[in-house]
Amino acid sequence: MDITVFLGAPGSGKGTQAKILAKDHGSIHLSTGDMLRAAIQQGVDVGLKAKKFIDAGELVPDAVMIELIEKALGRLPSQSKIVLDGFPRTVAQAEALDKNAATRPNRAIYFMVPDELLLERLTGRRVCSKCGQPYHVKNMPPKKAGICDACGATIVQRPDDSESVVARRLEVFATQNQPLLDYFKNAKKLKELNANTPVDELQTELVKILS
Ligand code: AMP
Repeated sequence: MDITVFLGAPGSGKGTQAKILAKDHGSIHLSTGDMLRAAIQQGVDVGLKAKKFIDAGELVPDAVMIELIEKALGRLPSQSKIVLDGFPRTVAQAEALDKNAATRPNRAIYFMVPDELLLERLTGRRVCSKCGQPYHVKNMPPKKAGICDACGATIVQRPDDSESVVARRLEVFATQNQPLLDYFKNAKKLKELNANTPVDELQTELVKILS
């Protein structure tokens, strides 16, 4: 497997970029946030365990997340090119990936966005309720208000993108981020990118790095 980890604050654009890479360049996008939201919708056990943490903007316990990602990676063919979006979020999660040669990340890319932009990016974010396509009320609106360009379903706001939960998510990120950056820097796997650029420019840069 070739595994790229996307690191960055909530709202830094990791998911948007990973979704384009999956659509246009054959990568497999594994978003632990998307996996948990799907599990909640389907009433699956891991979703029930995770819901109270997600609603509060807290991290879901490492043991739950490590089991979830190990199962997801275990189902993929060994020659897959994978983008991990939202995992690892703690050093314990990074160490769990490294323990097994088959899941050891090849590189980590840090999406750098100035702090003052994140709140506006997150509270303005909307997603398609069906296909997960991301939008933003100002920066990336759909062609028809409230309707997904890709699949025609309704666009909604994630409950944890409300202002009160976003503030806590950014706080949690701020405490977890530096140790994780140090972890990948020490392993000489970290590449930092200015992610405060238009979506297509950032995508071009990522394609170059990943090819
Ligand atoms: P995201 O869609 O990546 O912003 O994730 C949404 C929420 O899911 C987070 O605020 C956490 O509560 C939870 N979550 C997702 N990935 C992880 C992870 N690797 N570790 C702990 N919690 C996670």
